[in-house]
Amino acid sequence: MDFSVQIREKGLKVTPARLSVIEVLSEGNQAFAHAELEKIFDTMDRVTLYRILNDFEYVGLVHKIVDAEGITRFALCKKSCPDKHHTDDHVHFNCQICHKMFCLDKVHEPQINLPNGFKAERLQTLIYGLCNSCNAA
Ligand SMILES: [Zn+2]
Ligand SMILES: [Zn+2]
Ligand SMILES: [Zn+2]
Repeated sequence: MDFSVQIREKGLKVTPARLSVIEVLSEGNQAFAHAELEKIFDTMDRVTLYRILNDFEYVGLVHKIVDAEGITRFALCKKSCPDKHHTDDHVHFNCQICHKMFCLDKVHEPQINLPNGFKAERLQTLIYGLCNSCNAA
């Protein structure tokens, strides 16, 4: 996949920093916490990293999920989401052993019937358990 095309299509300038962030986020269907990304990009300025993630989130390249500890994590959108409105409808999985967070992009959010008068804007399903590598260990 050519990420520079995706970045450009979203109206952002392609920079080496943006490209390296999107490449890491594309690995292993995982959602990364800011602190994890800071460790990976230890030479990158923290503010730069923060801006890149927020720009990506804003244009619909990256979505945010809050994990079991209340920490916001960032994951690549599988299909391009429209600006400012994410259409990702997959379930997230937080492993309680290795603490990794996965995008289960083949598992869709369940249909929930709300009482009359309630309008859902966003549904975020987070499953806690053992991931496939921890479960096999
Ligand atoms: Zn999205
Ligand atoms: Zn695990
Ligand atoms: Zn996700």
